[in-house]
Amino acid sequence: MVTHAFIELLKQFFSDPATNLFPVPYAPQNVHKALKAIDSGKVKMISPVEVPDGFRGKILYDREACIGCQMCLKVCPSETIEFVPEGRKVKFYMSRCTFCALCTEICPKKCIKMSKDFLMANTDKYGPDMIVLDSGKFVQEEKKETPKPEKETDSEKPQPKATA
Ligand code: SF4
Ligand code: SF4
Repeated sequence: MVTHAFIELLKQFFSDPATNLFPVPYAPQNVHKALKAIDSGKVKMISPVEVPDGFRGKILYDREACIGCQMCLKVCPSETIEFVPEGRKVKFYMSRCTFCALCTEICPKKCIKMSKDFLMANTDKYGPDMIVLDSGKFVQEEKKETPKPEKETDSEKPQPKATA
């Protein structure tokens, strides 16, 4: 009997890999030599798989756009976010983050985003690379349109004073 699992297995044979393959098509005895061979063009490197849209990687934070409302702190399940009273801003300890994206959804200013950056291996979980303080400006503020002055009708124009 052909099961659903068997059909899925067959599909996997013909679909692109979801994980990164080893960068060279053989197991090198010497990594430095393998890298030199890639540099010189003797060996073609296997490109890594593209990170898909919607991937939840390292937090991006537009500090300037933040209004310090602390809504993100209330929804964060892992106490990743700390309120900084000076300036009424926040900071993120990435070593605690569960990448649930709840903070991105609740933020009224949309100044938190998940990036595609997944390379966060670090020996110091409180090192500068693991704390997000400001990722630069990405929130586009809505432009307030100034109403155009309406055209004056003839009756609204100042009339010359009648002479006696
Ligand atoms: S993604 Fe989730 S765990 Fe990470 S800071 Fe946001 S709310 Fe907290
Ligand atoms: S929810 Fe958004 S605006 Fe409010 S403190 Fe957090 S990052 Fe700032």
